[in-house]
Amino acid sequence: MVSLNTTEKEKPELPASDRSDKGTAKSAVTPMMAQYLEIKARAPDALLFYRMGDFYELFFDDAVAAAGALDITLTKRGKHAGDDIPMCGVPFHAYEAYLAKLIRQGFSVAICEQTESPAEAKKRGSKSVVARDIVRIVTPGTVTEDTLLEPDRHNYLGALAILGNGKEAAIAYADVSTGAFRVRTTTVATVSSDVLSAGLKELVVPEKSGLPQAWTTKLADLGPLVPLSEFGTPRFTAKAGERLLKERFGVSTLDGFGSFDRATLAACGGLLAFVEHTQIDRFPNLQVPVLASADEGMQIDAATRSSLELTRTTRDQRKGSVLDAIDMTVTGPGARLLSERLTSPLTDPKRINDRFDVVDFLARDNRLLEDLTASLKQSTDMARCIGRLSVGRGGPRDLAGVRDGLECARAVACRLDQSPYPFPDELGETVQLLEARGEGGFSALMRELKNGLAVENLPLLVRDGGFIAEGFDPGLDEVRQLRDESRRVMAAMETELRDLTGIKSLKIKNNNVLGYFVEVPPSQADGLMTGPHSDGFIHRQTLVSGVRFTTGQLADLDARIARSKEEAQAREAEIFDDLTAKCLDRARAILSSAAALAAVDVGISIARLHLERDFTRPIVDDSSVFDVKSGRHAVVEQALTRSSDSAAFVPNDCKIGTQTDSKIWLVTGPNMAGKSTFLRQNAIIAILAQAGIFVPARDAQIGVADRIFSRVGANDDLARGQSTFMVEMTETAAILNQASSRSIVILDEIGRGTSTYDGLAIAWACVEHLHSENRCRSIFATHYHELTSLSEQLANLENVSMQVREWKGDVVFLHEIAAGAADRSYGVAVARLAGLPKSTVARANQILSQLEKDAGNGMSVDALPLFAAAPPEEATASGEDMDNAPDGRDALSTALEELDPDALTPRDALDALYRLKDLL
Ligand code: ATP
Repeated sequence: MVSLNTTEKEKPELPASDRSDKGTAKSAVTPMMAQYLEIKARAPDALLFYRMGDFYELFFDDAVAAAGALDITLTKRGKHAGDDIPMCGVPFHAYEAYLAKLIRQGFSVAICEQTESPAEAKKRGSKSVVARDIVRIVTPGTVTEDTLLEPDRHNYLGALAILGNGKEAAIAYADVSTGAFRVRTTTVATVSSDVLSAGLKELVVPEKSGLPQAWTTKLADLGPLVPLSEFGTPRFTAKAGERLLKERFGVSTLDGFGSFDRATLAACGGLLAFVEHTQIDRFPNLQVPVLASADEGMQIDAATRSSLELTRTTRDQRKGSVLDAIDMTVTGPGARLLSERLTSPLTDPKRINDRFDVVDFLARDNRLLEDLTASLKQSTDMARCIGRLSVGRGGPRDLAGVRDGLECARAVACRLDQSPYPFPDELGETVQLLEARGEGGFSALMRELKNGLAVENLPLLVRDGGFIAEGFDPGLDEVRQLRDESRRVMAAMETELRDLTGIKSLKIKNNNVLGYFVEVPPSQADGLMTGPHSDGFIHRQTLVSGVRFTTGQLADLDARIARSKEEAQAREAEIFDDLTAKCLDRARAILSSAAALAAVDVGISIARLHLERDFTRPIVDDSSVFDVKSGRHAVVEQALTRSSDSAAFVPNDCKIGTQTDSKIWLVTGPNMAGKSTFLRQNAIIAILAQAGIFVPARDAQIGVADRIFSRVGANDDLARGQSTFMVEMTETAAILNQASSRSIVILDEIGRGTSTYDGLAIAWACVEHLHSENRCRSIFATHYHELTSLSEQLANLENVSMQVREWKGDVVFLHEIAAGAADRSYGVAVARLAGLPKSTVARANQILSQLEKDAGNGMSVDALPLFAAAPPEEATASGEDMDNAPDGRDALSTALEELDPDALTPRDALDALYRLKDLL
């Protein structure tokens, strides 16, 4: 946990070697080192990038840490208190790559710049140290550099306020790179879900010491998932929050923003103070905070998110996640919005259906889709351009980003206007926002940007110049003319000097050290050094390749060109600032336009899922229905389609809720039959539906769920010293304690990690609890066939099973769900498929038949001859021998006896035939 404690009364903390008990140490401190130590004390937990000329230098422990993290050379510079000072440095012009590497490794970096030129410092005395100050502290949640941001992911910084001894709490979160700002109340029970649904890159929290125990434990749980930064507790008060909000948004009352309570104000206070602390005097252009209430949105806890692999797989990859499988957006902002919607599904059917209406509108016109996609591909990340411009880290390309983004928004709005169909409500608003139609549009700003900026080859930095179009500013044109004129004069001078000296190879060149100079080959240099022209030529440098001179006229011209270049640069910087101010004046409208473009991109992406990948609009309402027809798992389906294997995904129905009742489906079937896939696909379908995204199913009706819980697949948390079984039980406990009748619960193989009887007992009790206490819609997969008899006692429990068929002694998975319990586990057969040695498979079969026979005779498991010697390998090694065993014949007769040909459908008859052949 990083601690960034910044209370004013703090004393600068010097490195151990510099504390006063070292006696003579103080006198040994050079003025520069004294300045360094004073600045470093203000950012004790960040690495200090201390600007020296063209480098950011790091000293002491910072240097050691950074050299290791960046794999750069650790050197030393001078001594401090008798010891060498470790030092390393990164070049200023390439600092971003180094910064990115450090931030990714969890460091924070304080950037300390020179705030005056060496010449200015000299005026204060020849020994004066150039003034320096921290201009920004870079933390994972406050980066704005393109290289540090992922185009398709938000970069949210969150702040958690906890008041009233833990009874009131809220999270405020903002993306400094785009200006998005949200706040919601939370509780100790839901904080993980809330933090994860916001997708935070960093969470700022009050000092742990003052927090109630339950919260400290929660934060310890969150620690591995989100980097936490401790920040002075006094920042997290309602009073501080109210003051900062009013100050930042220039209002005298917050009534217009919604009704903030103490906790939400305090969270905003912590967040805004942390942003101020890290951005120093360049506060980003945050939007007015959007207030969400605690019960808004579907709660999805950390375990569920990870088990469903919503946005990242369990290996922390985007590829293979649900988001990756459904993302057909073409812009970074579109991908971010889709991710945000997927991670924070709604619970209000009206809002969900509004989103669907937009998709329906877009999906009905293919030409429209094509045209809009083509326009969107030209779009830019306007929100991030505005984000950089607002904190003074923007460049000419960011202005061009706004220009091109607005151009794209205009094209998209015009194309939508051409549609003959009336807009659904949400799209109507989107079109308004694209062009800021309600507030005068963007024409004036676009004109300004178009006329002002050159079209091609815009430099990254303002100081590189040359980005303002010719003819835009008469003052700039004049200095540029002067500069170009001087260059022409320079060319004429070269000819003149050649004529004068008779040296044909004389050239006028230019470099950073000498400026403009005359260069002649060494063989011709004498004439200029001592010969007739020596008066006019002043020697500057002798190299093997040439000798360099200047002349009075050349020096004058050089100074003139340098001056006009500087003037041009200064003028361009002024124009840049002016254009930036004009953009920032309209920042709110531009950000809305950017959000509207992202919404169109998301709408199109979903429409494409509908048209190209058979995703359909579900019915979402307030009922307790959960009825999916021919549902699919978006990721598994895509993987199967891409693989060379010709197997296609087998769709399955699922009905665990009706208008009146919630149901539990108890799923049995062998391993590998597709149980986990089935479980997950239904949870994912519910989430997609509530996120306003079409679902992979032929039809679906889903009554909104308040929460969804999924526990599929075993996890252990060795880092926290918890076994797989303990993690499973903790997660199951959370589900049974929290699921309401409006929740959806997906549980897979509860109780597997302990002894058979313990496990069965636990699974049994869990099913009963879900059925009679939670009364929620659930799917419960199990290997304990004994549980299937529960359907006789529990009215709302239904047995379903994954179908398999045996073929020549092997199991064939049909991946099909059907009513009724599975006949047996097929575990040994699956183990054989997996390549277990034949002798082991044979022995397992032998034990299994013995177990089944003895269990049938009422013998206890303990009495079984499990340790009897295995039969010789030859006798049982082949599948044929096993199939001809006496048990096989018994089973065949029994199966034949049980068959009732008149009651069989043709399909059943065929299945029966296969079964009989297999038994034979
Ligand atoms: P285990 O109990 O061993 O975890 P399982 O019954 O949960 O197994 P899954 O992991 O869901 O089985 O599925 C196994 C494999 O079967 C998947 O990787 C997938 O390739 C395939 N599969 C699952 N469901 C389907 C389906 N509906 N259609 C086609 N293939 C499927």
